[in-house]
Amino acid sequence: MKIAVLPGDGIGTEIVAEAVKVLNVLDLKFEMETALVGGAAFDAFGHPLPEATLKLAMASDAVLFGAVGDWKYDTLDRPLRPEQAILGLRKHMGLFANFRPAICYEQLVGASSLKPELISGLDILIIRELTGDIYFGQPRGRRTATDGHFPGAEEAFDTMRYSKPEIERIAHVAFQAARKRKAADKEGRVTSVDKANVLETFQFWKDVVTEVGKEYPDIALDHMYVDNAAMQLVKEPKRFDVVVTGNMFGDILSDEASMLTGSIGMLPSASLNTKNQGLYEPSHGSAPDIAGKGVANPLATILSAAMMLRFSLNQPEAAQRIEAAVQKVLAQGLRTGDIWSEGTTKVGTAQMGEAVVKALG
Ligand code: NAD
Repeated sequence: MKIAVLPGDGIGTEIVAEAVKVLNVLDLKFEMETALVGGAAFDAFGHPLPEATLKLAMASDAVLFGAVGDWKYDTLDRPLRPEQAILGLRKHMGLFANFRPAICYEQLVGASSLKPELISGLDILIIRELTGDIYFGQPRGRRTATDGHFPGAEEAFDTMRYSKPEIERIAHVAFQAARKRKAADKEGRVTSVDKANVLETFQFWKDVVTEVGKEYPDIALDHMYVDNAAMQLVKEPKRFDVVVTGNMFGDILSDEASMLTGSIGMLPSASLNTKNQGLYEPSHGSAPDIAGKGVANPLATILSAAMMLRFSLNQPEAAQRIEAAVQKVLAQGLRTGDIWSEGTTKVGTAQMGEAVVKALG
């Protein structure tokens, strides 16, 4: 088993170091190799995703990714910006399914901005399609009133598109995830989120998901418009089980869902291809405002490493051990600043990582 470790920028290096500590004590045989990505790679090699980093990622079973980006790169041409590294990895590795669980740990119920009864026991899974939608549609561009080209543009446009195989592929992933969750006592329901009332692309999405759903008679399917879904996520989040949606709606709803549980510092994510090769990263960014201070919460990255063990490295027991260790540390009252509340003990990034290592026993 080979893991490419790509810490990236900002707090990326600090939080990935803690996840690596945790992986190292598991007594499993894997090789880990580290490479630069994002702004760090741009500074060293003039590109956010150098050839050597991409090669390493492609040749690995999984990529453990920190975060990329910093305001200082905002003036670079778009293809050279740190965030392009993620898009490049997604494209070359064929990562099409983004899993974002939003789980509320009982000890953190008070950290949410929602009432405790709304989120206590919350365990939902948002699945976002990553390869299609308005982010990659052609044509796209800007044009003037006369000749169709930037500069001096008077309008800009991006085209929303989805192909049938792209929708079918992500729908199968969602139904299969709901089936697995049902086996573990969850409801067994997929909510497909669209905007079929306005957009042709999403009427098509809805039709295709409905067709695929017929192959899963044991799983309930419902459809919801994205504006309603955004509202329901804060009104009654526990009504969802598995949510599947396109690239742009998924981008927005998964961030919304991640905040339900109190801190973005707690939430892992996985992006998978058809071979279960995956990229695992926390849901948050590089947090330049707290980088280098040793205060970032490493738990989202540690939980991403657990997802990596489960989905790409076929080590579900090790994954469970990590998740149990995280619960234990929270039960001990240890908190980084983002989840701290009166009566708990504030710790830094490294202390939190070490506490998880200790809790693994
Ligand atoms: P962010 O997620 O980096 O930070 C938002 C807020 O959450 C900040 O106040 C930050 O301090 C806090 N935060 C984030 N992670 C935390 C953690 N682990 N512990 C404690 N607090 C945490 O989002 P942003 O500020 O909008 O973006 C900063 C940079 O990150 C930008 O350059 C952006 O492009 C990039 N970004 C990268 C990714 C990625 O690498 N996948 C994702 C989102 C944003």
